[in-house]
Amino acid sequence: MSTYDEQEYQRKYRAEHRDEKRAYQKQYGIDHRATILKQHKEYHKTNYVPHPKQPRPMEERFWEWVNKGGTNECWNWKGAPNVWGYGQIRDTNGRYGKKKLAHRISWIIHNGPIPTNILVLHTCDNPLCVNPNHLWLGTHKDNALDMCKKGRHTKGGWGQ
Ligand SMILES: [Zn+2]
Repeated sequence: MSTYDEQEYQRKYRAEHRDEKRAYQKQYGIDHRATILKQHKEYHKTNYVPHPKQPRPMEERFWEWVNKGGTNECWNWKGAPNVWGYGQIRDTNGRYGKKKLAHRISWIIHNGPIPTNILVLHTCDNPLCVNPNHLWLGTHKDNALDMCKKGRHTKGGWGQ
């Protein structure tokens, strides 16, 4: 003996009367599904907002993370630094973008592309700084010399 199940009954009843209901709606010109679809389309036409994950240019995202100060002050990066203490930004937005160094991006934005094997170095020794006035281009050798000159080699910093 099977027990009575209200939900099962409702489901069966609705299935049996579905065609009947549709025929009735058609007869009186009420096409419920078409109405819903129309409303849905209208809604998306009038309330269209771009998806937040749409790619935004690097420069636009860059400035949102900079604590911009005076020309001779350090402009600290607001985002989380990498293990060496340098600010980082992804080349495309979203989590699949490759991480780039923020001060290098700052150089590219202000002065154009960086030649290969050339480093962007800080005059202020503040790895979080992205102020273009505190950045200069140098080789690995320049960086090592600079490091010795400022006594940074004893602290174990790499510069970048
Ligand atoms: Zn600085």
